[in-house]
Amino acid sequence: MNLKLEDTPEHLAFRKEFITWLQSVLPLGWIEGIRDGDEELFKEARAKWDVLTWMKTIGDSGYAAPLWPIEYGGLSGHTWMQQIIREELGNYRLPLAGFNLLGVGLAGPTIIEHGSQGQKERYLKKILTGEEIWCQLFSEPGSGSDLASVATRAVKDGDEWIINGQKVWTTIAQFSKFGMLLARTDPDKPKHEGLSYFILDMKTPGVDVRPLKQMTGSSEFNEVFFSDVRIPAENLVGSEGDGWRCARTTLMNERSTLAGLSIDETTFIGGSARKDPWQLFVDMIPNTKDPQIRQKMAQFYIESTVKEITGLRANLKRMRGETPGPEGGVNKVFNAEYNKRKSSFTVDANGMRAIAWAKDDSTAEGIATRFLRARANTIEGGTSEILRNQMSERILGLPREIEVDKDVPFKEIKRQ
Ligand SMILES: Cc1cc2nc3c(=O)[nH]c(=O)nc-3n(C[C@H](O)[C@H](O)[C@H](O)COP(=O)(O)OP(=O)(O)OC[C@H]3O[C@@H](n4cnc5c(N)ncnc54)[C@H](O)[C@@H]3O)c2cc1C
Repeated sequence: MNLKLEDTPEHLAFRKEFITWLQSVLPLGWIEGIRDGDEELFKEARAKWDVLTWMKTIGDSGYAAPLWPIEYGGLSGHTWMQQIIREELGNYRLPLAGFNLLGVGLAGPTIIEHGSQGQKERYLKKILTGEEIWCQLFSEPGSGSDLASVATRAVKDGDEWIINGQKVWTTIAQFSKFGMLLARTDPDKPKHEGLSYFILDMKTPGVDVRPLKQMTGSSEFNEVFFSDVRIPAENLVGSEGDGWRCARTTLMNERSTLAGLSIDETTFIGGSARKDPWQLFVDMIPNTKDPQIRQKMAQFYIESTVKEITGLRANLKRMRGETPGPEGGVNKVFNAEYNKRKSSFTVDANGMRAIAWAKDDSTAEGIATRFLRARANTIEGGTSEILRNQMSERILGLPREIEVDKDVPFKEIKRQ
């Protein structure tokens, strides 16, 4: 399955330019190995590659963020350029932003839209080169779907803000240099109005990052506690009380950047060379001659094609320079649930091997990990229920969900 749009001469020229650039920066044999299906040649080239150098190389080139202004490390380009770059990075098994996906995908666009000149000059370039990794300090134990109800407090003290409170689910906080922090600056105002958005240096005294161990065995995300953490006033993004507007920019970019990616796509973000996800799936099914198994696989193939066509429709809009419509949300819900079903099926097809695997059976371990990790897909980046609510309102035109506390001062809202 490899659905493609026809390139215009302008698109084709850019595609060729980008592939030529890739050829000039990747170890010898990488491009040829993939193009000729020579896995050994590719593996040899891959052994000479590391993700940190790659992040610096693509970050310095402008290709990591073609839509960003040239002066901040982008190309001042078009959405179709971004689309072509993404396609070719996928074709050549390369990560877009390495470990700094939240920096490049979320923090950067928010700083470009709402940040001060000084913030743009200080932060953007190092986001692109991966020299400074970012995390997103939004969700709290009592505030996830209803993000505007965050309770972490920021109190002005001279030319500093003092932060107290707690965040949770903070992906890669333990490796991050900076965090995008949403905090409450005015509890007398209704919940959406009393918020402000800050840049937090994660090494500031009083920031306590505690990794959470997941059922996959790894620790992707953390709890983060703030005890009298001092943030300089210059780290406020936008103006005081403007936090919700800034956060919406981050969230919109989150949906389009990473929501609904399967583990095969997220390990790809981390820089492991991946195979085509469909081939990877087929390779994990042992008994493909069984008619019932084949029937189910055909169904997954059909759904995967539908998903690809929806993605293609969004890409077509990007290639025309337009902003995609509801395709992103629709595919996020579909993809998340598809990943769950597909990973459950893979466990079933492998039987005991996928439940109690031998120590050296990394394929079986991978099958179990994919199954467990897929549970998060319907939660991260907005739950399927919340996205369905949004689709019902924005696409189907159903009445908005009633929000009884929308105009009530935050301090008067009953909280657990
Ligand atoms: C792997 C992973 C990584 C994450 N990384 C980050 C991160 O880096 N930074 C960060 O800030 N957050 C992160 N999150 C948090 C994520 O954004 C929240 O988990 C998500 O928004 C849901 O919030 P919640 O967990 O508080 O659940 P709740 O909002 O409490 O929801 C609980 C259940 O109720 C349902 N529900 C809630 N409200 C409604 C409604 N109005 N209508 C219908 N159903 C509803 C939800 O769909 C869900 O099923 C991450 C989450 C995961 C799983």
